[in-house]
Amino acid sequence: MASQQAPNASMEQRLAAVERVLEIRAHDKGLSVEGTMEWQEENLLAENGAKVVARAWTDPAFRQRLLADGKAAIAEFGIGLPAIQRQVYVLENTPAVHNVIVCTLCSCTATTLIGPPPGWYEDLEYRARVVREARTVLAEMGCPLPADTEIRVWDTTADTRFMVLPMQPPETVGWPEDKLAAVVTRDSLIGVGRLSANLR
Ligand code: FE
Repeated sequence: MASQQAPNASMEQRLAAVERVLEIRAHDKGLSVEGTMEWQEENLLAENGAKVVARAWTDPAFRQRLLADGKAAIAEFGIGLPAIQRQVYVLENTPAVHNVIVCTLCSCTATTLIGPPPGWYEDLEYRARVVREARTVLAEMGCPLPADTEIRVWDTTADTRFMVLPMQPPETVGWPEDKLAAVVTRDSLIGVGRLSANLR
């Protein structure tokens, strides 16, 4: 395409250009979109992250493996990660340190563990403010933290993803894994929720 046409290309022209590229690369447009959406619905689930967390709470050896090499430990569950997510770090919340994740550039997250990013995660307000005034933002989102709890904000990059390992609510110690997994919320995997206040 001639460069002088690009700024004025109509939506139809842009669509045609994308279709030409897809054809050149031998993708079937219909199957590709449909197949991608189906794959997303089946694979991008916060329930995946919840299962990983429940195992980490009940199996100290797994917890160690998870914190040492998130991607390898998650593979033990058969949870597939897109190739672009080359590194997955699991961040352990403790009474002293609270982790929270963001993508300041856009809205990337570990979707296969956390699910599709919620609307507020994509909003400029969250992305801009959580890195400047995390304690205030977390309090506003229903996650007030003690003044002496250190907050660490992790900014997602093109090939690195994060998942928070929330603290286990003390009242759930001894529960079976499936019951524990049901307690874990998407927000706690992002780090904007504490489960002691979110038991369901
Ligand atoms: Fe992003």
